[in-house]
Amino acid sequence: MVAVELKNVSKSYDGKTFAIEGLNLQCEYGEMLALLGPSGCGKSTTLKLIAGIERISGGQIMFGARDVSQLDTASRNVAMVFEDYALYPHLSVFENIAFPLRVRSTLHSDIDRAVGRVIDLLELQEVRDANVRKLSGGAQQRVSIGRALVREPDLIMFDEPLSHMDAAQKVGLRSEIARLQKAAKLTSVLVTHDQTEAISMADRIAVMDKGVLQQVATPAEIYARPANLFVASFIGEPPMNLLEAQLLEVRSEGVAIAIGQGVELLLPLQPYGAAIHRASSNKLVVGVRPEHVRLAQKNGHHALVMTTPIVVVETRGDHDVLQLRSPMGRLVMEVNGPSGFAQGQLVNVAIDPHDVHVFDAQTTCNLLAGVTGVVTRGAQT
Ligand code: ADP
Repeated sequence: MVAVELKNVSKSYDGKTFAIEGLNLQCEYGEMLALLGPSGCGKSTTLKLIAGIERISGGQIMFGARDVSQLDTASRNVAMVFEDYALYPHLSVFENIAFPLRVRSTLHSDIDRAVGRVIDLLELQEVRDANVRKLSGGAQQRVSIGRALVREPDLIMFDEPLSHMDAAQKVGLRSEIARLQKAAKLTSVLVTHDQTEAISMADRIAVMDKGVLQQVATPAEIYARPANLFVASFIGEPPMNLLEAQLLEVRSEGVAIAIGQGVELLLPLQPYGAAIHRASSNKLVVGVRPEHVRLAQKNGHHALVMTTPIVVVETRGDHDVLQLRSPMGRLVMEVNGPSGFAQGQLVNVAIDPHDVHVFDAQTTCNLLAGVTGVVTRGAQT
């Protein structure tokens, strides 16, 4: 396994428009990097460029110290795991995993050793000689991972590997792939449109939109400090509330902003006192995650409390999602369920200034993006 680096990579299929533009990305040795974004954002193109199925239009792709930009797929030693496991239905688990080695005319004893090692790693010993048709979808996908691993690739790429699974299989295989990835120190790239998959499996996530990298960071960093409005609205379920706001003034006790119909909020001077100067105008967007709109506590010391009517109650089992008509604008709130709240009821909600995210309305960038050194739009800000 090696580290993989994309340096200023671009791809145009038609010579006019770019499917990928100025992509700088690293997948470290032994790391799982997820490429995440909506349909058409360029995930598959990136995967094909790394695998050598498509050629880059500009830039460079490095596998360790080796420039593979001009190499064909066969010379790159990349293994792929697809959503439809593409197994040979008439063969056993052992023979499916052994297949890539048989076509290479590997010695029998070497095949036995290599396949045995992979079967142990994937804990497939009990079904070693079973026909793959008899296995569940999750077990079949493990066999296809085994077939990818047996060749000892430099890099393994997972292309929407769980799309065909039902919910229970997904949960099982997600943790199985993550365990395997750590145990075998696989350098791996995961392509997915599913944020839960990316967050639960990957060490770092590269969020893409329209062929451009928006942010690359750990799942926790992306949740805590989304680099821009696209990332803020794409990650999180229900999505973050985004509210129009205006900068009022910087005071000795904090940075005063007005949200919606004049609700004033004081942002802490540290870090906003310095960061606010990065705003290109007084037009801001304030983001609040639904789980950070909290029920106000009696005698609690809250910076901001609002009494708001409930417009919609959606019960989701262990939690409820409430839609509120607040003076800040329409707010979505998540509370523990069953909450017993009903439509039309008034509720006192509190927002802590430390929980909000502040974006420049014009550039869409998080005002704190540069403060913490997160990567936006493919460049260090
Ligand atoms: P994703 O995998 O995120 O859905 P893709 O990489 O498939 O995105 O697509 C990115 C862009 O490149 C889209 O605009 C798509 O239409 C275009 N594209 C992808 N493959 C081809 C192709 N073979 N020929 C022309 N355009 C393509």
